[in-house]
Amino acid sequence: MATVRQDPPQSGLGGALDPQIPVENPATGQVIGSVPDLDRCAVERLCERGRAAQGGWEAIGFDRRGEVLRRAQKWVIDNSKLVVETIVSETGKTFEDAQFAEVAYAANAFGFWAKHAARYLADERVHSSQVLLKGKRLILRYRPLGLVGVIGPWNYPLTNSFGDCIPALAAGNSVILKPSEVTPLTSLLMERALLECGLPEGVLSVASGRGQTGEAVVENVDMVMFTGSTRTGRRVAEAAASRLIPCSLELGGKDPMIVLSDADLERAANLAVYYSMQNAGQTCISIERVYVEEPVYDAFVARVLEKVRALRVGVPTGPGSVDIGAITFAPQLVTISEHIADAEGKGAKVLTGGHVLQIGGGRFFEPTVLVDVNHEMKVMKEETFGPVLPVMKVSDVEEAVALANDSPYGLGASVMTRNTSLGEQIARRVRAGSANVNDALINYTALELPMGGAKASGLGSRHGAGGIRKYCSQQAIVITPPRLAMKREVHMFPYKARTTRLIERFLRLLYGRGRRDRGRQAP
Ligand code: NDP
Repeated sequence: MATVRQDPPQSGLGGALDPQIPVENPATGQVIGSVPDLDRCAVERLCERGRAAQGGWEAIGFDRRGEVLRRAQKWVIDNSKLVVETIVSETGKTFEDAQFAEVAYAANAFGFWAKHAARYLADERVHSSQVLLKGKRLILRYRPLGLVGVIGPWNYPLTNSFGDCIPALAAGNSVILKPSEVTPLTSLLMERALLECGLPEGVLSVASGRGQTGEAVVENVDMVMFTGSTRTGRRVAEAAASRLIPCSLELGGKDPMIVLSDADLERAANLAVYYSMQNAGQTCISIERVYVEEPVYDAFVARVLEKVRALRVGVPTGPGSVDIGAITFAPQLVTISEHIADAEGKGAKVLTGGHVLQIGGGRFFEPTVLVDVNHEMKVMKEETFGPVLPVMKVSDVEEAVALANDSPYGLGASVMTRNTSLGEQIARRVRAGSANVNDALINYTALELPMGGAKASGLGSRHGAGGIRKYCSQQAIVITPPRLAMKREVHMFPYKARTTRLIERFLRLLYGRGRRDRGRQAP
């Protein structure tokens, strides 16, 4: 695989003289590049540039912005080898994980927002039954907020970091993207790609740096879209609240899968293994725990075990070379190991895996299956974010639902059963932002559906109408045509007792007869 070296950013606002952050390939331990660690002043300059460019970008309208996004869609496919290699080199994930969950997502998202932004953000004509508004024109208008800050994590540098820039740009905003310090190269590559595709200078800037760079972004933008840990998400929300700017948060998860006795066990086992282990388990909506009804528990565990034991872990050297890549963020190895040690200490059994794997200079974790687990263990309550699948036996649906809901998180959930109406009922009872019946995670690919978390998993959502309207403020416009524009209206000064009595009679007539609401509202 070609080594991806990062050229200095082209913005001229960061460069060789800034302190640099080395970027490492987690699968090999090699340093593959470095990026500037931008300080507060550099972020402010990027923000000024973004604000200066925003008006022109908004003014060109949806069609011309859509053209840029469509060119970017083609660019991603034409350059997919480079994009995949860049992602693989800084995350250590497999080529397939980079292709399916990142390149495919980005290509789809560019086209989706190019096509649907205008419809989601079209002016809405609103009808009011309010008497004072009869004959007037009421419009709900969406206006881009101006400068959006996108702060992203290291697990999906294209999908989760860069992906949120696409609807923000489609809406007519400028964007400052702060990628994780661990995986900034993909974002910088996309910044250059968008310039090549005709995005005006300054509309999208990448602010590489550490947590302080992220703080500076929050201090200078009009809205923040954050993806990452619940702990940092809270800090971002507090900082946004103190500035009274909106924020949208996609945070951690501990997604359950429930397997009922009538489930297709082969499919259930395949889904459980794939969606807990793909991307080495470093996915916010990974399956992180499984509850299996007693009659099929042994058979399910046997199938899972066979599949997990067959997984190949190692350095991704090309398509098909391995199934499980590296652990991208070094401290994550400690968290994963701690969860397993804690579970074993409390009586859990490791059926396979359970250890850190050092391959050359790279860091990996063995695909792991745990049984005899319970909710006293971290592995069932806290985000593990590694290739670890704890499986718990339950006596019935009620116990499974109660355990699924026994979590501070609520991102996604999955129910496996041939009885789809029962599956849907269970899905509706799980407190999670999304739930799949006989599937898992796949809702993420439906850009028409909102994707967001309940409880400590987040605020707001990405995708769907809400996923672009959040990058806009709403403006209510009321237009009174000249034929209705009286010199003075009845409720205005000077107040007179006779008018007040008249209004009282009118209110009594409208609302005082105890009839069912006919859509009238108080004046
Ligand atoms: P963080 O939440 O700490 O980081 C996410 C992003 O926020 C990074 O770009 C980070 O920069 C930036 N950041 C850090 N501090 C601040 C701040 N005060 N203000 C603004 N931005 C800030 O996640 P980690 O990378 O540390 O991962 C920790 C845990 O989060 C993982 O173990 C996993 O459980 C979970 N996680 C969840 C993800 C999800 O998709 N929901 C994705 C990744 C992780 P920098 O990286 O440079 O410090």
